[in-house]
Amino acid sequence: MPGRLEPWAPAARRVLPAMRAWRMGFHQEPELSLHEERTREKVVRALTELNIPFTTFGDFPGVVGLVGGDRPGPVVALRADMDALPITEQTGLPFASKYPGRMHACGHDMHMACLLGAGAILSRSPRPLAGPVKLLFQPAEEEGNQGGALPMIERGCLEHPKVDYIVGQHVEPSVPLGRVAWGVGPFMAAADFFRLTVRGRGGHASTPHQGPDAIVVASEIVVGLQTLVSRIRDPLDPVVVSVGSVHGGTRNNILPDEVVLEGTVRTLNPTTRVTMEAALRRRVRAIAASVGARVRVEYRHGYPALVNHPGATRTVAAALGMEFGRDHAVEVDGPIMGAEDFSRYLERVPGTFLRLGVGISGRPASLHSATFAPDERALVVGAATLAAAAEGLQAGAR
Ligand SMILES: [Zn+2]
Ligand SMILES: [Zn+2]
Repeated sequence: MPGRLEPWAPAARRVLPAMRAWRMGFHQEPELSLHEERTREKVVRALTELNIPFTTFGDFPGVVGLVGGDRPGPVVALRADMDALPITEQTGLPFASKYPGRMHACGHDMHMACLLGAGAILSRSPRPLAGPVKLLFQPAEEEGNQGGALPMIERGCLEHPKVDYIVGQHVEPSVPLGRVAWGVGPFMAAADFFRLTVRGRGGHASTPHQGPDAIVVASEIVVGLQTLVSRIRDPLDPVVVSVGSVHGGTRNNILPDEVVLEGTVRTLNPTTRVTMEAALRRRVRAIAASVGARVRVEYRHGYPALVNHPGATRTVAAALGMEFGRDHAVEVDGPIMGAEDFSRYLERVPGTFLRLGVGISGRPASLHSATFAPDERALVVGAATLAAAAEGLQAGAR
């Protein structure tokens, strides 16, 4: 890595008013996954004002901006997600969501504003970029099944020019404001979905001996899945199995024919992911068979585990250490079992996913909550983080 360059934070501070305005615009009109039409218009308007060329994709509301397209060096992509959540906002902010049942409760409004801010400071920088920087605005991160990253990739966002490195970030309330957290290797989990339909024999609640009781079998399955976690996997390889919904029955004295359980399996290791699916199918069938009940198992793979590339991560961590000071670019304790479709890019291109500190003491601010209200000062750190990461990767690759 070459010697110390000027930090990006002062330039980012100068664009803070613009970033705040962009963020408020996104925040007031949140849109759910694959419906980010107005959001796209706002991104396109901002890129136009910044004189940054961009590409859009017809029906699919993603946008790709390109800074320094004429530069010969390595191509770095920076990614922000665009979608909001089906939550009714209760922050009381003056720029709160205009729509009940829609809220930027995961901070994707912040991510987009930071990415526009990074575009602004990179494109106006007095020192020329070594290579092109692509700005990926990706819809539908919250969709959870196919997600928006795959359609972006299918539409060529990693080609023309071909992307050498990719960086993304997510606001994180457990990291203090002013800090950025990084980590090498497994960083977030693979998230798979299951639905178990337990078929018993319905009837009067006073005669349960007449057939398998779907409620009792379903309850045994819920408990049995927990011993699956504690007895099948290596204690040093984290796995989560959670049942998030249980549906069956209509009243106290009628046994239903059927109970439906839905849940999620979270793993970090691809082999464990396969093992857990097979083990879950086996265990569920065995429990049902032991009392003569039938069970239908539907199992669907969601986002793969997010694994940060060691080399790219260390290069970015070094750049962030120079930008903010080593005590503000902190290594994380370990992975979290949340999922993120940024993993789809990292399956194809080396890069890293960072956690941007928005933690404020004394204020409840957990992601996906109706009161989530990150501190806007994180916009400066977020924009400087993306710019420094891009520059660091381009310099480190030379
Ligand atoms: Zn989220
Ligand atoms: Zn999110």
